[in-house]
Amino acid sequence: MEKIKMTTPLVEMDGDEMTRVLWKIIKEELILPFVDLKTEYYDLGLPNRDATQDQVTMDAALANKKYGVAVKCATITPNAQRVEEYHLHQMWKSPNGTIRAVLDGTVFRAPIMIDSIKPVVKNWTKPITIARHAYGDVYKCTEFRIPGPGRAELIYTGDDGSRQAATVYNFECAGVLQGQYNKDTSIYSFARSCFNYALESKQDLWFGAKDTISKKYDHTFKDIFQEVYDAEYREKFEAAGITYFYSLIDDIVARVIRSEGGFVWACKNYDGDVMSDMVSTAFGSLAMMTSVLVSPDGNYEYEAAHGTVTRHYYKYLKGEATSTNPMATIFAWSGALKKRGELDSLPALVRFGEALEAASLQTLNDGIMTKDLCGLAEGITPTQVNSEEFIQAIRTRLEAKLA
Ligand code: NAD
Repeated sequence: MEKIKMTTPLVEMDGDEMTRVLWKIIKEELILPFVDLKTEYYDLGLPNRDATQDQVTMDAALANKKYGVAVKCATITPNAQRVEEYHLHQMWKSPNGTIRAVLDGTVFRAPIMIDSIKPVVKNWTKPITIARHAYGDVYKCTEFRIPGPGRAELIYTGDDGSRQAATVYNFECAGVLQGQYNKDTSIYSFARSCFNYALESKQDLWFGAKDTISKKYDHTFKDIFQEVYDAEYREKFEAAGITYFYSLIDDIVARVIRSEGGFVWACKNYDGDVMSDMVSTAFGSLAMMTSVLVSPDGNYEYEAAHGTVTRHYYKYLKGEATSTNPMATIFAWSGALKKRGELDSLPALVRFGEALEAASLQTLNDGIMTKDLCGLAEGITPTQVNSEEFIQAIRTRLEAKLA
């Protein structure tokens, strides 16, 4: 069989621990036999990030901006324990944070659904995609512990000398204080990324914030979304038969629970952090959540939503077989290859990505599963396999589809 040709390289970002082990097997078994793979390879594994003073992460992010499409393996975000374990020169920053800062994007997370795993919320028959604004708010806040009585003020001094000041609170006792910000430019790009994703995936877009309480901060998010929708997207949405819907975040949460799914839910940074874990757990498993960072100027970074599965890696190092679920990592590859195919007008590459996804889903629907899913499956008696056996089972089905 002739291998499928590519014209532009994918930016390949390798990672750490168990997902790095799976990465190699996925490439060797499911990609390289079928695709004449072109990648520009960046090793974001922690030892190489340390050896390059983290320059490799910045280089990879810039390559993502240059070529447009990247596929990323999960990586360790070091903490004090990792600094010791890997003898690091520094506690390097989160690679995902660095990549997001370069691309200025929105993270979209969607569950992979199969018949035998029912969401905890029984009326969710279609996936819910969470779009998380990945900039500012509490993640970039300044905060104090207030030791005792005194006045807390919020002050802005413009470069032109203008000034705004307000008393936040006259403390009569100890307490806490926090200052948050966001930027119009980032909110506009958040809005555009969400509208574009909804159009591309032909799903309605819902957005919720607390504009009745936060009359300037959250209200600005609401206003910018509405302005961008009216000026740039209303006609396109109407033509595609999809809608944009804004409501208070508490109303949105209630509607989400009662819905059948099948829409994109835009969330402010903190809401997205919390709600994506709730939604992924309710849909079944973190190992079945896909994730893609979409930048407003059309760059894509595909990855699994989960981490490096450290506990399994330590077992693997002891020579034990592990039953780590590679689905989300496989879908990161298929998503990236499909997008590359779409951008380069290579229908064979798009079809390959679709076939890889179909073969993976068929394997699960045939009852062949890793351990994390076996306990969740209903109405079938699953066969539990280890990671390599699972990938082999996908390969057999993929070969049949491509024959
Ligand atoms: P994790 O996602 O690796 O694991 C969380 C839990 O889910 C564990 O119980 C794990 O066994 C289970 N799990 C996750 N993916 C699974 C899979 N594919 N198959 C079977 N079970 C799976 O997160 P963690 O334990 O909090 O973090 C481990 C490391 O991953 C940390 O060093 C962290 O910095 C890193 N991390 C990276 C990313 C990323 O690169 N995007 C995201 C989260 C965590």
